Amino acid sequence: MARTVGDKPPSESTPTILLSGSLRPCPFCASSDLWISSDLETKFVACKKCAAFGPTAPTVTLATERWNKRS
Ligand SMILES: [Zn+2]
Repeated sequence: MARTVGDKPPSESTPTILLSGSLRPCPFCASSDLWISSDLETKFVACKKCAAFGPTAPTVTLATERWNKRS
């Protein structure tokens, strides 16, 4: 039996791309199929369905908060 390397539980300090549980649906099309751009220096939440995107922020958490406040 081989052990899986790097098999650690998800940490709160590691932002995941999909945080649909804490994100409100898109204010434009009401879709909850959202994603968070965390590759760039500025983070933002975007809707996969209608391509709308929320306010940019320096952190994923802040971008999520701003997205939620917007709707
Ligand atoms: Zn949308």
